[in-house]
Amino acid sequence: MDFAFDAKTEQLRATLLEFMDSHVYPAEAVLEQQLHDATDPWQRQPIIADLKAEARRRGLWNLFLPDPEHGAGLTNLQYAPLAEIAGRSPHLAPEALNCAAPDTGNMEVLAMFGTDEQKKQWLRPLLDGEIRSAFCMTEPDVASSDATNIATRIDRDGDDYVVNGRKWWSSGAMNPDCAIFIVMGKTDPDADRHRQQAMILVPRDTPGVTVKRAMHVFGYGDHAHGGHAEIVFDDVRVPAANLIAGEGEGFAIAQARLGPGRIHHCMRLIGMAERALELMCRRAVSRVAFGKPIAAQGVVQEWIAESRVRIEQARLLVLKTAWLMDTVGNKGAHTEIQSIKIGTPAMAEWVIDKAIQAHGAGGVSQDTPLAELWVAARTLRLADGPDEVHRMSLAKRELKKYL
Ligand SMILES: Cc1cc2nc3c(=O)[nH]c(=O)nc-3n(C[C@H](O)[C@H](O)[C@H](O)COP(=O)(O)OP(=O)(O)OC[C@H]3O[C@@H](n4cnc5c(N)ncnc54)[C@H](O)[C@@H]3O)c2cc1C
Repeated sequence: MDFAFDAKTEQLRATLLEFMDSHVYPAEAVLEQQLHDATDPWQRQPIIADLKAEARRRGLWNLFLPDPEHGAGLTNLQYAPLAEIAGRSPHLAPEALNCAAPDTGNMEVLAMFGTDEQKKQWLRPLLDGEIRSAFCMTEPDVASSDATNIATRIDRDGDDYVVNGRKWWSSGAMNPDCAIFIVMGKTDPDADRHRQQAMILVPRDTPGVTVKRAMHVFGYGDHAHGGHAEIVFDDVRVPAANLIAGEGEGFAIAQARLGPGRIHHCMRLIGMAERALELMCRRAVSRVAFGKPIAAQGVVQEWIAESRVRIEQARLLVLKTAWLMDTVGNKGAHTEIQSIKIGTPAMAEWVIDKAIQAHGAGGVSQDTPLAELWVAARTLRLADGPDEVHRMSLAKRELKKYL
């Protein structure tokens, strides 16, 4: 077993680490200031466009997409350590590299299932970072962790489909650059449970689309990410050619989309946890309480040691999962994808929580990235499927061996 990264990965790591130091970390305070000064909180902040241009110039672009025709052509194993580094600044780096959710998943869907025309119209500008996109599955009125509950209707009418429904938590949709929504709904409620759904492309400016409001996350807008919107689709008419793959294919597309999406979140979470551990250590050696650095306290040492153990465990499983996805495919890596989606957000949440504690009140303030990192880790125990649903499905697969 070889645990070393290959030469290409090492070269990209070096380029990315330098970009993080020279551009991304210094941009964090700039973004904070631009968001603070903005008259419209959803307007695009100039610092993000600057970072995108610089990342692209350095060849740090579309690294997530294994398909060499459209993306960088890296394997999951090559991309994993790069996504980890980007995760250290989750509000800036992934978008700077054009590797941010939900665009990544949406680009994968279009690359895998889109027609030539759909690719030309929507994939190309997404790959070029000219527009952004949202994925609209979750609905306020049904338990959406069970995707078969989705109630939005996509009904054929002549040469069009007509979409009716209400979605929420459509990430990125408050961003004015978000031009296209991939909407999941039912084309045939009488078909087999997993064949009732379809996915359709709905341009944001289609009549009948209303972006109602931004959902708050722990009371805040999550502006840097383009927010999370509630959207109403009221008799929204789009050409039949906007359907992705075909009627009845929605559930299968959702599954294909979520595999890579989940591992990408986990890769970034490792980076978030690493950054939190670094901040915890720096703080612990420099802050003195009761006559000695807080790093001298056994309890703090225990947090630090335990953080290192948990991060290494999670990283190894994420890398193994990436390797399996590359070698036996996403289906063959199902158990591992679910394992990391259960384990990694909880690991990161634990480490970040300890780093916050070691910082005292400063840890929950705007003066460190810890509060934002904690929110990202906590919400990832819900987004892309709650922990309990992954546990249920994983347990079922384990039990199958004995039934
Ligand atoms: C920050 C953020 C971003 C998001 N981005 C998007 C997005 O871009 N697009 C999108 O479509 N959605 C998005 N979501 C929504 C997310 O995917 C859903 O919230 C999630 O799938 C759960 O659906 P629900 O909220 O309807 O919870 P429900 O289905 O109502 O479930 C509620 C709770 O019930 C429990 N539960 C459910 N099933 C079981 C079970 N089998 N066993 C035990 N307990 C169970 C779980 O604790 C679960 O959390 C986002 C959410 C967040 C927080």
